[in-house]
Amino acid sequence: MVLKSVLYTCVWSVVCYFGASLSAEINYTNNVGEVSFRNTHIQVDIDEHMYARVKYLDNQQSLSMNDASNQDPLAQPPFFMRANGTLYNHFAVESSRCSEYFTDPNYGPGRKLTITGREGVIKQTLVLEMYDRYPDVVLVQSQYLNEGETPLSINDIYCQYYRLNRKLTNPAELSYKFRHTKPIQDSWGHSYLNLPITNDYSEEFQVPLGGYGRSGVPFIDVWGQELGMAIFMVESVPRIMRILCRVQSDWKVDISIHIRPSDTQGQVPERLPAGQEITTWKTAVCVHKGDFFNPARRFAQVLDGALQKAGKRGFIAEYPPQTYQPYWKTWGMNSKQGSGDFTLDQVSARMDELADAGFHSIMLDDGWYDTVGQWNLDPEKFPRGDSDMVAFVKDCHSSRWGKHDASFQVYLWWDPLGSKTAEGSLSDLLVQNPEGEYFTGGQAGYMLCPAYEETIHYLTDVLLNRFYNTWGVDGVYHDWTDQNAPACYAPSHQHADPRESIEKNYEPFRAMHEYIRQQRPDSYWDSQCNCAAMHDIYQYPYYYFEDTSDPTTDRQVRYRLKWIKALRGSRAPVGDGYVDDMSYNHLSGEPAQSVAIGSVITSLRWKVDELGGQEHAQQWMDLYYSEKLSDGEFLNLYDVYYDSPEGYVIRKNNGILYYFFVQSDSSYSGDVELRGLQSNTRYKVTDYELQKSYGEISGKDPALKITLKPGNNEDGKIFYQVLKCVPEKM
Ligand SMILES: [Zn+2]
Repeated sequence: MVLKSVLYTCVWSVVCYFGASLSAEINYTNNVGEVSFRNTHIQVDIDEHMYARVKYLDNQQSLSMNDASNQDPLAQPPFFMRANGTLYNHFAVESSRCSEYFTDPNYGPGRKLTITGREGVIKQTLVLEMYDRYPDVVLVQSQYLNEGETPLSINDIYCQYYRLNRKLTNPAELSYKFRHTKPIQDSWGHSYLNLPITNDYSEEFQVPLGGYGRSGVPFIDVWGQELGMAIFMVESVPRIMRILCRVQSDWKVDISIHIRPSDTQGQVPERLPAGQEITTWKTAVCVHKGDFFNPARRFAQVLDGALQKAGKRGFIAEYPPQTYQPYWKTWGMNSKQGSGDFTLDQVSARMDELADAGFHSIMLDDGWYDTVGQWNLDPEKFPRGDSDMVAFVKDCHSSRWGKHDASFQVYLWWDPLGSKTAEGSLSDLLVQNPEGEYFTGGQAGYMLCPAYEETIHYLTDVLLNRFYNTWGVDGVYHDWTDQNAPACYAPSHQHADPRESIEKNYEPFRAMHEYIRQQRPDSYWDSQCNCAAMHDIYQYPYYYFEDTSDPTTDRQVRYRLKWIKALRGSRAPVGDGYVDDMSYNHLSGEPAQSVAIGSVITSLRWKVDELGGQEHAQQWMDLYYSEKLSDGEFLNLYDVYYDSPEGYVIRKNNGILYYFFVQSDSSYSGDVELRGLQSNTRYKVTDYELQKSYGEISGKDPALKITLKPGNNEDGKIFYQVLKCVPEKM
């Protein structure tokens, strides 16, 4: 290790001497039979047959969790393919060349390594990219040239194929003992973050169009306590692929992005003519410490660059104040099961109490309309039609609610791309299958085509115009699992290709988001729920508020919040998926959790006896507003699985840190390490809820004994403590 740092220092000196940028860390070496490409925290060593070992580097160590032998019969190189039934996975390296530093307009300073190799009639070229800005990531594109005289049928293309072995970083563990994230959700209520890998685990997930809601993300992370590796796709349009994760007979874990041209609706050709070349999609590998947060952050950052490179809007960087506003909605008001059973009088009757609790936004949930797709008012709830809704919204906007004469913003629930009817003018907008029939796989039944101009016109100029300009509402909440369409063959849509409805799945959300921003330039709000389905990453730039979406356990609330903060930014507004315990979930109904993990409080019931009592619920609502942890900086300092108890940390701009230690189902008493403190600073530590002092702690010695207390609800499903650490001399 010492020798290595000396070597690094020499490289530095030479580079600096010749006047290169101070950030010139990316390095390339070519020793006999092994090419090595290295950034500050990642190194890829590629052997003479293009098998590769990926290493994590820091000042102390060089670690790898992937087997890279080209002799192992189960092994594969990271990039290979099958054509005419023959596997091409043993390319002999012919050349390698590394570029000088260049500046990419979206990714900044970087270097490119190009390696070529041959096997039979196939010439493979790999282009690897490293950037100073992403020191633990390598981007790669593979190319395959058919040098034969006959065309080839492409069966499979594999990108970023790695064999992971926990024993490489911890010999005492079994080879498959990792945690992982899953790129799709199997069904409503299922978890997709922080899952175990078992010795018989074997899955291939198609993204998008697979699983519940046909969405998903082109990303998988596998991690142990010592190290993690994530692979992901960074194309500027949705691509149809499979993500593979399987335990082999030797208990090592294979992961890969698997492209089957026959799956892809023509995105990848099934034939490779003689003399022609195919370039695959851009993918990346990231090595990291801790759980899925860091690689998810990298995935979002690199994808953001790819979107902007393609001229699209990138991820949202700043969120308007309105998006941090707690809201209450009608779904649970008359039934713990949830229902659309409400009247406007019942809603109005609760508003004084809600205003006093601290809510300034309400949502009319499922139940206000006549038919999904048509979105006229339910004549029973609104007997005088539009004028009833206009009067209700005006009443909400007037400053007369509660002790402090508050007003309310009004949001509407809906399913923008779903339709329960194929009648009238809607029939022209619907997705059709190759047989010319309407697609009927959605939650609503039918689905509006996202890549058809008339759909965009209907959603904005007709429906949003009705909601915003006729009725005067302030926000919309997109729900149900109809937001990812299959290929559309409707003749009147005149698609250049049926897959347009997949590749442009974000287009309605882009148009609606822009329309809403124009209507409410001072206070705009739009949100995505998708009825528990994992949200589509390509729709991310086009709504402000994301919800943890129908979590069924407290753990799901916490893990999903962490996932969303990683992808959308550490200050992004994230809903707690409703603080209330319902008959279809098992949440603790603990407002302390909502506040202390940094979520926005949202509620279906706000029955204070179910939230730990009036005093407890009000105390946490007051704390929500007083220091606004929801727009603080979410720090990734504890692993959701390997650190116990679970720890969450928010830092505010004034340097104050808020720690939330939590466990579901059992208490904890013992030391915790307060990570993230400045080593040269002393902090005053208090229990945030009880205002009790724990004295002072030094950043140099940040251990503290804590005892988690049960939540205030009757059965105490979570145990927690919240600490506030204020740096001295503030
Ligand atoms: Zn269409």
